Amino acid sequence: MTRHDLKIAGLIAVVVVALGLALGYGAGMLVAGKRDLPGAPAQGQAEFAAPQAGTLPNPSGGSLPGYNDVYVNDYAELLDTGAEARIRDNLIELYDHTGIEMTVLTISDLSGYRHDGPIEPFATALFNAWGIGNAARNDGILVLVARNDRRMRIEIGAGYDPSWDARMQRVIDAGFLPDFRNDAYQAGIETGVRETIFELTGHYPGTFDAGTFARGWSWIFWRLTALGDWIWGLIAVPLASFGLWLRRYLRNRPRPCPDCGTMMIRLGEEADDAHLDGGQTLEEFLKSVDYDVWACPSCEHMDILRYRNWFSGYGACPKCGYRALTTTTKILRSATTSRTGLKRLTYDCKNCSYHDTEQRVIPKVSKSSSGSGRSSFGGGSSSGGGASGSW
Ligand SMILES: [Zn+2]
Ligand SMILES: [Zn+2]
Repeated sequence: MTRHDLKIAGLIAVVVVALGLALGYGAGMLVAGKRDLPGAPAQGQAEFAAPQAGTLPNPSGGSLPGYNDVYVNDYAELLDTGAEARIRDNLIELYDHTGIEMTVLTISDLSGYRHDGPIEPFATALFNAWGIGNAARNDGILVLVARNDRRMRIEIGAGYDPSWDARMQRVIDAGFLPDFRNDAYQAGIETGVRETIFELTGHYPGTFDAGTFARGWSWIFWRLTALGDWIWGLIAVPLASFGLWLRRYLRNRPRPCPDCGTMMIRLGEEADDAHLDGGQTLEEFLKSVDYDVWACPSCEHMDILRYRNWFSGYGACPKCGYRALTTTTKILRSATTSRTGLKRLTYDCKNCSYHDTEQRVIPKVSKSSSGSGRSSFGGGSSSGGGASGSW
């Protein structure tokens, strides 16, 4: 690199870093600040015996669903295992940082519980039967989705003042319903839960312990994602073209001979090969490394520049050093949630006689964390606040 190249690269780096910092901190400041939640974070949980929800009547005289889990009860089977685990982790994180008990319930239809009429009184009765939220602060949150009725409700505890109804309405309209309208229930619930947590706390899951900068960027990413996936294309295309252009420029830029100062000439691909050794020629053939040969027209000086292909499947051989090493993997035993697996890796060099095998342990498949070990709600109640939506 010449000094001129370094200056340009330095300037670009400084501008990019400064912009990134300003954006992150700016957004982080804007979204900072605890919202006016009903109370301070919980110290321990309220002692409360959950009522037997399954035995309580709903407002139409039918029944209410009970719960098997305090975070997610996906009775309508709208979530796959991974999504359910992610949502549960988000809700555990919310509880651990704020003490807020938020729970997600999906059901096929209200009539399955012999309830006819609007979803609101059903949600209120259910909220109070389960006792969602801390009993003193009444800060619980229930997300209820009735798939076939195409109706949903966010029921909030009695501790939230009425201004929260409009906030929850925004979350439903912008977070849940856009995907629900396309029958993409899993995506809608995942987005909606994150948006609800953000509306409640000013933090997206994963950013509770983050500083202003990280919080800001997390906010920016989620805003951009909310605009639709096309926005990434809009950003990625110019960024990638610039990166490609910069790489090509740096590789092809004119360079003076370090010995005599004359501008050097790059030899063509065929002329290259005359100056490469056997291993280097093989690397070019395998497309694991590309070589440029620059020759000085006035003196004998010659530079052979090596450009590694980062997407090549060939590794560096520990014996001959060339990037001509193939790796094949054979699973000897698959990992499960209860035991580790085992695989055998076989290495062969295409350039020399190097051959080796090794066995590696495959880590256990991780189960999602079981959370704070909560098994019942805190005994909170709702006086009917919240918001509803249909699609
Ligand atoms: Zn020269
Ligand atoms: Zn080798």
